[in-house]
Amino acid sequence: MSLSFYMPTKIIEDSECVLKNKDLIKSYGTKALIVTGRHSAKANGSLDDVIKALDENGQSYAIFDKVMANPTIDLVYEGSEFAKDNDVDFIIAIGGGSPMDAAKAISLLTINDIKREELFKGVYPYDPLPMIFIPTTAGTGSEVTQYSILTNDEAETKTTIATPKIFPEVALLDGKYMMSLGKNTTINTALDAYSHAVEGYLSVKANSITKNFSLEAIKIISSLFTKLKDFKLSKEDRDKLLYASTIAGIVIAHTGTIAVHLMGYSLTYYHEIDHGRANGLLLPRFLKFINKTNKDLIDDILKSSNVKDLDELQSVFDGLLGEKEKITLDEIKHYASKAVKVPKIVNCISVPKEDDLVEIMSDVFLK
Ligand code: NAP
Ligand code: ZN
Repeated sequence: MSLSFYMPTKIIEDSECVLKNKDLIKSYGTKALIVTGRHSAKANGSLDDVIKALDENGQSYAIFDKVMANPTIDLVYEGSEFAKDNDVDFIIAIGGGSPMDAAKAISLLTINDIKREELFKGVYPYDPLPMIFIPTTAGTGSEVTQYSILTNDEAETKTTIATPKIFPEVALLDGKYMMSLGKNTTINTALDAYSHAVEGYLSVKANSITKNFSLEAIKIISSLFTKLKDFKLSKEDRDKLLYASTIAGIVIAHTGTIAVHLMGYSLTYYHEIDHGRANGLLLPRFLKFINKTNKDLIDDILKSSNVKDLDELQSVFDGLLGEKEKITLDEIKHYASKAVKVPKIVNCISVPKEDDLVEIMSDVFLK
């Protein structure tokens, strides 16, 4: 047996965990850069809790609250200049995957002088500022991954900074911040987490630990499919989704994602389809492709999802996602040609060819 497992992020899930862990927050520095989106952290109580903890600790802070969905390269350079101007010594990210991913790149760029053309090359000499993450969506798992995914206009896609240096030091999980999260974002992010768990399960990099995390995350998220559709989620359900998305994040920290995310990036870049929704639209049909070669693995996923077959899973996803966007065959061919060129496509347990990707996306969008 060969096995490798690494998770340097301290994970704490608890009600009121931000205030309960103010001593831990205090240990990371004297002045925090708070990285967040434009509105939600102010509305859901997370920013107030962080400021209260910092004030009680006597720590100062500066707030960078400009992060948009699918953060851009320009934005993270701007954030790092703001961090340098404010002389901060640690970072607190509050929000969904967008602020968390932006915070990782900002942290790296504040300490390292990296030219734009070198940003994704993986060479970052100095350790970034320490990071504490407070996720307010339950989807990306960015609080436990070494990835920062940025919109890259030059490559016309989303490109990933991947380095163990950007694992956050601490993840503080409290579902209370998600009580105000709307139906679409809740569903999309839950399907993103489900997709991470499933793609990780179907990666050649999966191991016995990640497989257990995958099946556990799949089980939890699918047990909430009906409540997601009816949008009747208690605080306990929100906590479960957050836990599941974090363990699915641990999975992709080891395995990465595979073809579903690679196709999904084009749907987001060219059509502004939300990240999780893009994966949700593609995933069930992609599983039919894998089923041809690896039925045993698909059976594991279906069993943990408590559905009898892939058609039932497809109809659950259809019910959650509603009407699909219109994408043309020419667009599909373009996206397949881009996805198939990404080196990590080979990590899929059964590697799709360009034609397979065209067929999958055509079945999803043209039928
Ligand atoms: P997001 O882009 O972070 O947020 C989506 C929307 O939800 C924003 O309008 C945000 O508002 C709002 N929002 C966030 N928390 C809320 C809350 N508690 N209540 C009400 N509204 C809330 O969405 P996401 O799906 O979490 O993140 C997607 C990004 O993560 C993509 O860029 C994707 O590529 C990346 N990702 C990263 C990884 C990784 O491993 N690093 C993995 C998968 C995906 P505000 O803007 O006002 O905050
Ligand atoms: Zn994702």
